[in-house]
Amino acid sequence: MGKKETMSIRMDSLSKNEAFARVVTAVFASRLDPTLEELDDIKTAVSEAVTNAVIHGYQNGEGVIELEACAEDNVLTVIVRDAGVGIADVKKAMEPMFTTAEEEERSGLGFSFMEAFMDQVKVFSEPGKGTTVTMKKKIGR
Ligand code: ATP
Ligand code: MG
Repeated sequence: MGKKETMSIRMDSLSKNEAFARVVTAVFASRLDPTLEELDDIKTAVSEAVTNAVIHGYQNGEGVIELEACAEDNVLTVIVRDAGVGIADVKKAMEPMFTTAEEEERSGLGFSFMEAFMDQVKVFSEPGKGTTVTMKKKIGR
């Protein structure tokens, strides 16, 4: 059994950090020797979670986003955390095509992509306190 390896980063809530977060996570994940497809899945999921933190969590205003990743055996865990507005009804927010940003032409598919591309997605949120998205993916099956 391999040793557990971790990394954590704090970044400003800026849309340019969506790309930063996906690259950092992809580089970290590469130690698990993923296929290009697995790497793309991870990048998409991280990007969706960070985008949500920027536009929904902090409503495009100031804030700090925490990104953590952990590699243990062949499982990658990625955590994206914001201290923004939070989500009142997580179950509803995770339904396909549910969005609170219809006028911005959002499709409400971010959580659906995260669930499709990762093996497990857990969302913990409290209104006024923020949101934590924890995603796991087994690399190489
Ligand atoms: P899309 O991701 O397709 O552009 P979307 O962001 O609205 O659209 P989801 O990513 O599935 O769709 O999120 C659904 C809803 O959950 C959002 O509209 C928003 O109301 C809420 N939400 C998601 N992430 C957060 C967050 N970090 N903080 C607060 N609310 C959130
Ligand atoms: Mg989204």
